[in-house]
Amino acid sequence: MPATTRIAIALAVVLFAAPSALAGEPPKQGAPSAGAAQQEKCEHGVQKALCARCNPKLAAVYRAKGDWCKEHERPESQCVPCHPELAKKGIK
Ligand SMILES: [Zn+2]
Ligand SMILES: [Zn+2]
Repeated sequence: MPATTRIAIALAVVLFAAPSALAGEPPKQGAPSAGAAQQEKCEHGVQKALCARCNPKLAAVYRAKGDWCKEHERPESQCVPCHPELAKKGIK
């Protein structure tokens, strides 16, 4: 396995395991909506921690997974121009 792939996987594990750490926000302790905070959507209608447009570092992770639209420079799974059905989920 090439080193770059291992780095990408390690990055993915860190990012997906600790989205609040990525956002640089301390978890709201004792708040009943602590779980909901992780579901917070960004201006693109994607979970903030998973948005490749808000988090350019994620591009390498999505590329490593093969989930990437070169034409629109975003993950295929977040690419509304290619997948208009995503708009129904609120993705922009
Ligand atoms: Zn975004
Ligand atoms: Zn596309």
